[in-house]
Amino acid sequence: MLSLSQRSENVAPSETLAITAKINSMQAQGIDVIKFAAGEPDFDTPEYIKDAAIESLRNGFTKYTPVPGIAALREAIVEKFKRDNNLHYSPSQIIVSCGAKHSIYNILQAICNPGDEVVFAAPYWVSYPEIVKLSDAKPIVVETTAGQNFCMKPEQIESVLSDRTKAIIISSPSNPTGTVYDAATLSQIGELALERQCYVISDEIYESLLYDDLRHQSIASLDEAVQGITFVVNGVSKAYSMTGWRIGYTAGPEKAVQAMSRIQSHSTSNPTSIAQIGALTALTASQEAVEEMRRAFEERRNVICQRFDEIDGITYAKPQGAFYIFPDVSSHYGRNINGKTVNGSVEMTAFLLDSARVGVIPGNASGADNHLRLSFATSLAEINSGMDRIKEALA
Ligand SMILES: *Cc1c(COP(=O)(O)O)cnc(C)c1O
Repeated sequence: MLSLSQRSENVAPSETLAITAKINSMQAQGIDVIKFAAGEPDFDTPEYIKDAAIESLRNGFTKYTPVPGIAALREAIVEKFKRDNNLHYSPSQIIVSCGAKHSIYNILQAICNPGDEVVFAAPYWVSYPEIVKLSDAKPIVVETTAGQNFCMKPEQIESVLSDRTKAIIISSPSNPTGTVYDAATLSQIGELALERQCYVISDEIYESLLYDDLRHQSIASLDEAVQGITFVVNGVSKAYSMTGWRIGYTAGPEKAVQAMSRIQSHSTSNPTSIAQIGALTALTASQEAVEEMRRAFEERRNVICQRFDEIDGITYAKPQGAFYIFPDVSSHYGRNINGKTVNGSVEMTAFLLDSARVGVIPGNASGADNHLRLSFATSLAEINSGMDRIKEALA
């Protein structure tokens, strides 16, 4: 057979997609499965956003746009950074891409050379290691625990920095743990990056989903010099329930943003024209819908935490943002449960799906085999009956 590229062979298939496919096929067979596997909000995109996109489509806004996005959207993003983050950029420092995942992909394509190293925490978002490898760089994973709120300690980062370090990725609020870095830690990480002269990539896609009156702080807003070496990544997927629209954006050093734009110009070109209009409306209209969804997620967070507290031997770091909880279920590994022994998160996921008809994501996919990821982007009724099933299955 003709050979494939090394690059493609090195990319791990998405475990989360495999499990989602299994859950979907069970549901298609009429089996009642409760899904905690979703990586996206369950709400519909707000109507006024859809209307704006429909109108632009009817008006014939169906042609190529500038590669980094239409001027109005880039200006709206500049305003958004001013309004929400006290960050000042010029439109030439902004590039809109086909989702924040694509933003991160383009950043790493623009800055990494073969052998460069990119540092991030485990538990990690499944795509970080693969996007790093696709840029011919090497993932450097810093192990974190629930005790440290799954945040990298500055001294841990310092111990892995080398002359090959090209960037440090921070995910806060985090997927898969829901935890948030405090400003003091961010500030120290920024100093380390300045000293070592490496970039910071700050994935802030869950910025608007914060609980307990926490306020989001971007690492770039803490220090002007740090802003100069930082890519702030955000998008409309999670805040406005627009995952299928594929709009993400980056603010960063102008030269690097131009490099991203060159790369984008020969791959996807501009993000979809009418989706840009949707994103423009999302960012500039009233933010009330975001707050409404945030409140619903906070209530669900409270319920799922309460329900986990009722199950023996399961611990978790309380999610401060996003819509995931990442419990440690390892005390149930090796136990004999109704004649079955479960070892590791992949077997636990299969056990819960087969015996409890509950779909979760194994922590293994995030480099943390003692854990499961449950998304609470689902109704309170589903959360309650799903947790009833898990409690019973593990009793
Ligand atoms: C969902 C997600 C993204 C990207 O979302 P897009 O739909 O590509 O905009 C980026 N980072 C994390 C941690 C996510 O969970």
